Amino acid sequence: MALSPEELLKRDAAHLWHPYSSVIRSDPVYPVRSACGCEIELMDGRRLVDGMASWWCVIHGYNHPQLNAALRAQLDRFAHIMFGGFTHEPAVQLAARLVQLTPEPLSRVFFCDSGSVAVEVALKMAVQYQQARGYPERQRFISLRSGYHGDTLGAMSLCDPITGMHRLFAGILPKQYFAPAPPCAFGEPCAPEDLAPLEALIQRHRREIAGLILEPIVQGAGGMRFYSADYLRAVRDLCNAYDLLLIADEIATGFGRTGRWFACEHAGIAPDILTLGKALTGGYLSLAATLTTEPIARTISGGEAGAFMHGPTFMGNPLACAVANASIELLLASDWQASIQRIQRGLMQGLAPCRGLPGVADVRVLGAIGVIELEKPVCLAEVQRQLVEQGVWLRPFGRLLYTMPPYLITEDQLARICAAMCRVVADQYPR
Ligand SMILES: *Cc1c(COP(=O)(O)O)cnc(C)c1O
Repeated sequence: MALSPEELLKRDAAHLWHPYSSVIRSDPVYPVRSACGCEIELMDGRRLVDGMASWWCVIHGYNHPQLNAALRAQLDRFAHIMFGGFTHEPAVQLAARLVQLTPEPLSRVFFCDSGSVAVEVALKMAVQYQQARGYPERQRFISLRSGYHGDTLGAMSLCDPITGMHRLFAGILPKQYFAPAPPCAFGEPCAPEDLAPLEALIQRHRREIAGLILEPIVQGAGGMRFYSADYLRAVRDLCNAYDLLLIADEIATGFGRTGRWFACEHAGIAPDILTLGKALTGGYLSLAATLTTEPIARTISGGEAGAFMHGPTFMGNPLACAVANASIELLLASDWQASIQRIQRGLMQGLAPCRGLPGVADVRVLGAIGVIELEKPVCLAEVQRQLVEQGVWLRPFGRLLYTMPPYLITEDQLARICAAMCRVVADQYPR
C-alpha cells in the first residue's frame, strides 16, 4: 500500500527523528520517489540535481546498474553471515583491494558498520597498542579544532569542542586535547610557528597521549576548511619525533574526492591508522573500515587481552562488501581523475561570481568540493526551499553553502548547482 505524500509527511512528523532535528520545531523534509544518476525525483514530480552525493557517499550517482547487479548477485548467494568463525569472498577481496590502494605500510583491515564506529575502533586500537607496549597511561588523544569525527561518544570527544557541543555532554565525554585548526591554507606553505602550539601541547601531555587524529587536507563537517600539505607532513614528523600514533580520518576524503585516491597522498605521508567510510560502498550501504600496519596489529595481538577487543554483529556484511568491491572497480575503470578535475574547473568557474559579493567571507574549491563561506549563518529551511524551487539539492549548515556532487555530474548540472548557490547568496544579501 503506497502512502500519499501528505499521509507520509504526517506519519513522519508523528514518529521520526531526522539528523540533528527537533520534534517540536522541525525543518521541512521532502518525500523522495526515486533517484537515478545525479537526479532525485520528489513525490510531487519535481526533479532536483544532486549537489550533496548524500553526504559524500554517492560518488557514482543513484541507481547505478553495475552496483545494483553486484548487490543482486550477492543477495542470491547470502545476505549476511556472522564474521566470527566465518569468512567470505566479498570481505577478503575488499580487504585486499583496500590494502593495495592505501599507503604502503597499512596491511590489516577491520570492517565495521559506520564511520563513527570506525573512529571508535581506531581509538581502541591506539589504546590497546600503547598498553601492549608498556604505556597503559596513554589513553588520551590530540585532535584539531574545526574537526569532525562522528557522533558516537568517543568520536564526538574529538570533534570541535564548540560546534560539537561538548558542554552538553561534559560529564560523559572523555577529555581530549585540542590544537588550533591548521592556520595555513591548501596550496600554501606552512611556517614553523604554525605548528608551535601543537608541539607545545604534545610536549605538555605526551605521557598521557596515545595518538593524534585529524582529517587530512580537508576538514569536513567541522568547517569545510582546506589546509596545507606542509602542515600534514609536519604533523607526521611530530608524531614520529614524539612516538605518537597518527590516525588519519579519510571517511569524507577517501575515494578520489580531493583529486587523489586518499587525501594523505597530497602530502605523501602514511598514517599508522586510517579510517574509511562514506563513499566506500558508493553510497549503497553503511560500511566502514579501520586499517593499520602489521607491527601495530601484532603488538595489539600480543598484549594482555590477546586479541583486539571489538566485533560488531554486522562486521564485514557481504552485501556491503560486494557493492564496495563493485564501486571500487567502477572507479578504477573510469578516468576519475579527469572527472574530478573537470568538476574542480566547473566549480571554480561557476562560483567565481560570488567572490567579493557582500556577505561572502570566502569562496574555495578543492577537487570535487565547492564552498561558499558566508559572514552570517543562513536559515536552512528557507534556503533549502529556495534551492528546491531552482531544482537543486543542497544542505547548507551554519555559514557554509557547499557542494560535493557525484563524479558523473554533467557540466550543465554543475552550472545549475553553482548558479543556484550564487542566487541564494544574492538573495541573502540584496544590494
Ligand atoms: C561522516 C564522518 C564521520 C562519521 O561517519 P558516520 O558514518 O556518519 O558515522 C567521521 N569522520 C568524518 C571525517 C566524517 O566525515
